[in-house]
Amino acid sequence: MTTKPYDIDTLGVRAGVHRSPLGEHAEALFLTSSFVFESAAQAAARFAGEDDGFVYSRYTNPTVQMFEERLAALEGAECAVATSSGMAAILGCVMGLMKAGEHIVASRSLFGATLQLFNNLLGKFGIEVTYVPLDDAAAWAAAARPNTRLFFVESPSNPLMEIADIGAIADIAHAAGALLVVDNCFCSPAIQRPIELGADIVVHSATKYLDGQGRVMGGAVVGRRKVVFDPLTTFLRNAGATLSPFNAWVVLKGLETLKIRMDAQSAAALSLATWLEAHPRVKRVHYPGLASHPQHALAMRQQRTGGAIVSFEVDGGRDAAWRVVDNCQLVSITANLGDTKSTITHPASTTHGRLKPEVRAAAGIVEGLLRVSVGLESVADLQSDLARGLDGK
Ligand SMILES: *Cc1c(COP(=O)(O)O)cnc(C)c1O
Repeated sequence: MTTKPYDIDTLGVRAGVHRSPLGEHAEALFLTSSFVFESAAQAAARFAGEDDGFVYSRYTNPTVQMFEERLAALEGAECAVATSSGMAAILGCVMGLMKAGEHIVASRSLFGATLQLFNNLLGKFGIEVTYVPLDDAAAWAAAARPNTRLFFVESPSNPLMEIADIGAIADIAHAAGALLVVDNCFCSPAIQRPIELGADIVVHSATKYLDGQGRVMGGAVVGRRKVVFDPLTTFLRNAGATLSPFNAWVVLKGLETLKIRMDAQSAAALSLATWLEAHPRVKRVHYPGLASHPQHALAMRQQRTGGAIVSFEVDGGRDAAWRVVDNCQLVSITANLGDTKSTITHPASTTHGRLKPEVRAAAGIVEGLLRVSVGLESVADLQSDLARGLDGK
């Protein structure tokens, strides 16, 4: 299917469909580890790469390929390479695109496992990382070195929802001879398309909004064929961090409802953020869709909506924050996000609990901070659930 003339709503449902000769309407789930050749000559041709048919599911699988093509279409990219998780996608970028002695410039507020990978594993292989505040263009430029290969950013950041100017950082990366990688997990292509803004590569945790229903692990690296495809497939095919066909099928079907889920969940998040901002026990709300967000204008230039994640600071520190969490009867207490079921997290004692208190304070992760990933429940029910702990009733 040609992807150019269609809107994102259409692409989510239709892009990347490959029908088998049986004519099935829904995308088929090819649960098979290998594929049968018609002859010794065909086997030889496939192994030599002269015939692009399927060989083995660590290499390629028709269901995985349908997911890759649909996601690439949604991101407006030439290709996507699926991985076994979001972390495998980030590791794949490093292993596929970098070598010992090279350097990454990254924004300070990254997903916890990304920080662990960068801080505790890459050093063993001779790769260094320099961190900069995501909104400080001069710091990005100053941190670049002749051996800098990748710039890496998450926008909005977790959990404070700070916004990076993706176009500006892309220009700085390109001037330094580096590639810009954007972790687009918090927005998904239904809200933000980093490649259109100037990024070279998008990484995804498909575990979050792409599945959207909290069922399977998955990930992807998206970008230009020349930049992404060869290095990533060389890594994945030989290192084995491939997406399973079953998980690919689940996420492929998840993509069909991505746009309507993101629209509905964003609208609910905006309502909830507006209500929280007016609540007397809430000191501050971090939500890019609110006019009070310091980078509201930039967020609205880059994103279709403010997204579905709202962070807020309650009056009274950890005790007050934990009271809100412990009084939730509907909202789930879990660190995951991007689900149709709303979830709540206390970052200072969970996702950011291992940071030294002074590092955490410098990063703005205060004891009263809570993060809610807003799902598809009614906003009135979510408000009542949070009000119980906030009002101390
Ligand atoms: C969850 C997450 C990841 C890692 O994805 P997994 O699928 O859990 O490996 C990476 N980046 C961000 C922003 C995430 O939220």
